[in-house]
Amino acid sequence: MTMTEEQSTIEFPKILKGKKALVSGVANKRSIAWGIAQALHSAGAEIIFSYQNERLKPEVEKTLEGSIDNAKLVELDVGNDESLDSAFENIVSSFGGKLDILVHCLAFAPRETLQGGYVDTLRDHYAIAQDVSSYSLAAMARKARPLMQSAGGGSIITLTYLGAEKVVPNYNMMGIAKAALEAGTRYLAADLGVDNIRVNAISAGPVKTLAARGISDFTKMLNKHAEVAPLKRNVLVEEIGGTALFLASPLSGGITGEVLHVDCGYSIMAM
Ligand code: NAP
Repeated sequence: MTMTEEQSTIEFPKILKGKKALVSGVANKRSIAWGIAQALHSAGAEIIFSYQNERLKPEVEKTLEGSIDNAKLVELDVGNDESLDSAFENIVSSFGGKLDILVHCLAFAPRETLQGGYVDTLRDHYAIAQDVSSYSLAAMARKARPLMQSAGGGSIITLTYLGAEKVVPNYNMMGIAKAALEAGTRYLAADLGVDNIRVNAISAGPVKTLAARGISDFTKMLNKHAEVAPLKRNVLVEEIGGTALFLASPLSGGITGEVLHVDCGYSIMAM
């Protein structure tokens, strides 16, 4: 099926019925994590949503309202080990010690690192961007592992961007963090394959979200992608959701350690 920007609702078969998922990174209805959560939900998965702190919880609740009723929420700041410990204790008791799917859909870099030159990045800024955007995948995977072992295996999905592979103006520090995240995806896939846990990344084309607004000249980036991409448009969050569903399901059972581009083909173009 080919999608247009007007026609953006996809109905999925219930291939995740009985599966339990943790989805991080829903900030609002524009979030990529929200597109992913809707796809997993529509395919029958039971979802726990994590939010960074109490201040941000109401917006997440508002996003879920009317779409996913009675969803469970858990506070999880990935930059804090105590928060990780207590969130996973909560998840263990809510899901009866099992987890099938983990969606890592979050990133952070100080605003100063998303403009000017990478050469000017401060040590503290580098450390926080790497910690939240890249190390957090390993930290969450380590916590998820025993729950996925109890489930007989699992699928871990993270979100990256082309700026990890090629220089994208202003993406700077986040490109370095995403490069580490993509390498981390491969190393985690190698570590966890023995437990039938797959780890993959989706390299999404640009989407106008809250986090994206922090990147200088983001609208220019969107326009450039739509002009150059073979499909002559930007990707829809529903399409990223569909790919996440594929990666979460047995349909992708033989795939691990991959970075899958969901970008209307932009990344294949040299000019
Ligand atoms: P978004 O809606 O703003 O989501 C970013 C999420 O990261 C927010 O929910 C934010 O929570 C969370 N977060 C930041 N620091 C955190 C922390 N310490 N602990 C827990 N959560 C934290 O933006 P998005 O664009 O959908 O981003 C989702 C993922 O997609 C990111 O990895 C991003 O790099 C990636 N991606 C985005 C694009 C794009 O063009 N938008 C393209 C490719 C890949 P709060 O709101 O609570 O701070």
